[in-house]
Amino acid sequence: MRVSRFFLSTLKEAPAEAETVSHKLMLRAGLIRRLGSGLYTWMPLGLRVLRKVEAIVREEMNASGAIELLMPAVQPAELWQESGRWHEFGPLMLKIKDRHERDFCFGPTHEEVITDLARREIKSYRQLPVNFYQIQTKFRDEIRPRFGVMRAREFLMKDAYSFHADRASLEATYQQMYDTYTRIFTRLGLKFRAVAADTGAIGGSASHEFHVLADAGEDAIAFCPASDYAANVELAEAVAPSEPAAPPTQPMVKVATPDQHRVDAVAAYLGVPPQKVLKSLLVIAGNGQPFLLLLRGDHQLNEVKTSKHFAAQRGFRFASDAEVREHMGCGPGSLGPLGASVPVVADRSVLAMSDFVCGANEDGYHFTGVNFGRDLPVPETVADLRNVVAGDPSPDGKGRLEILRGIEVGHIFQLGTKYSEAMNATFLDEAGQTRVMEMGCYGIGVSRIVAAAIEQNFDERGIIFPAPMAPFQVALVALGLSRSSAVRQTAERLHAELEAAGVEVLFDDRDERPGVMFADMELIGIPHRVVVSERGLQQGTIEYQGRRDPAAQHVTVSSAVEFLK
Ligand code: ATP
Ligand code: MG
Ligand code: MG
Ligand code: MG
Repeated sequence: MRVSRFFLSTLKEAPAEAETVSHKLMLRAGLIRRLGSGLYTWMPLGLRVLRKVEAIVREEMNASGAIELLMPAVQPAELWQESGRWHEFGPLMLKIKDRHERDFCFGPTHEEVITDLARREIKSYRQLPVNFYQIQTKFRDEIRPRFGVMRAREFLMKDAYSFHADRASLEATYQQMYDTYTRIFTRLGLKFRAVAADTGAIGGSASHEFHVLADAGEDAIAFCPASDYAANVELAEAVAPSEPAAPPTQPMVKVATPDQHRVDAVAAYLGVPPQKVLKSLLVIAGNGQPFLLLLRGDHQLNEVKTSKHFAAQRGFRFASDAEVREHMGCGPGSLGPLGASVPVVADRSVLAMSDFVCGANEDGYHFTGVNFGRDLPVPETVADLRNVVAGDPSPDGKGRLEILRGIEVGHIFQLGTKYSEAMNATFLDEAGQTRVMEMGCYGIGVSRIVAAAIEQNFDERGIIFPAPMAPFQVALVALGLSRSSAVRQTAERLHAELEAAGVEVLFDDRDERPGVMFADMELIGIPHRVVVSERGLQQGTIEYQGRRDPAAQHVTVSSAVEFLK
């Protein structure tokens, strides 16, 4: 490819709105251009990178046995009403109406659509297991789109959904996806880490996230260098054992009625259906401030310990069973659909997550949840509330936790029967019995990966793409092209031979000042550069320099193609 026939559009300065390294460099290198908040055009150069990532993802997904399809981006509301997520998804979902005033959304994810497909297409255990995937544009009306394509509103995701006759089969595919993701991020040349994760709005039981490690990451991940333990801090927090502080002395408070707009805010915030929140929600007025308290289920014993730790850090006080009975009019275990016990009270203006009150609660310890009492803004993600600190004991007891920043580039879930049950996706088993399918889902942020890779690979001169995702492998820079026929002939010949050898080469034939050409080729992150100059040719050599090399080396013209292949 010749620069003169391509479209490079590099900038000297990054636009002021760009905050992170990758956002600045992607704009400066002309990989993307902003159309509106969270909306980006992939420029020709950027698109080459995006397609590289996509190709690796596709190859590994295919190799795993997953089958590609393509679902519509626009989805009818009815499916989401069936699953209960039409409201649950909250403002993150872009809702639209057609000319007949029918409700649709621009898909933020595709569990509903694929479950609908599966219930129509899959009748027998013989068709199971199956894993469908697509690489497709999603829209999420993020509350704070930022960092360019890292947290965009429109973005490219690979999403896969597997269907199974039983749990064991789901677990096997989940493990296979875990391994596939590990291969994908390894092949892309990224430093990453798989961590245990919260299941959030998607639901289900087991879940892992894959994080590219970078300071600009919005998530904090906790890991223990002495063991395999690694978790998103949301989860680390929910399992870190620690002793509770001495109970503070807060006055007990009164129960008030739930307040719908807060319920909705909390539901959206926690990613649970409003119904679920309502059932397990109390609003409590304490010290003149109302508190919202949430109870959620699905919990394990060790979360009691966690809750102590969590509450102690925030100065929460625990109520006794007697206080709970007196003020709530009911005892532990009597509230909510999940056998949850009753929450209590804090005098903190700080937000705090619940997510851990459960039937496994201990006598005398009842925990609280979120305080939206003073119209605090709803945080974008639960991860905004991280509180584990480096040096806390690792939940596996094998050492101390360290904390790193991570960018979530992949997320895998065992969904179980959450969607298949709600949407009646059943099959006939070997005995002719009707059974509900087990499901898994597996996402990769294809466009986010490009930004994440840059956060990990840059220097003061620009991007240093890992070779597997570089837009071109070799930059061929010709100096004095118009003055020297030797330079022109050699550069033209190298260009043709490299292309014939299948090397992706970008031939800078602009005949600009050397500094301008070098700066551009470095900025856009091409891993290898060769320079053809009159001076070099007099010695029969060209200059080669790897993007990370401290200095150039001479390579004979005759061996150049072989050297670069
Ligand atoms: P985040 O925690 O960053 O908001 P998520 O947990 O909401 O991400 P998932 O529902 O797990 O995202 O979607 C699968 C993948 O899609 C994520 O792991 C991430 O890489 C990517 N992704 C999600 N939201 C965005 C976004 N707004 N812009 C770009 N990529 C995104
Ligand atoms: Mg999100
Ligand atoms: Mg997340
Ligand atoms: Mg996620």
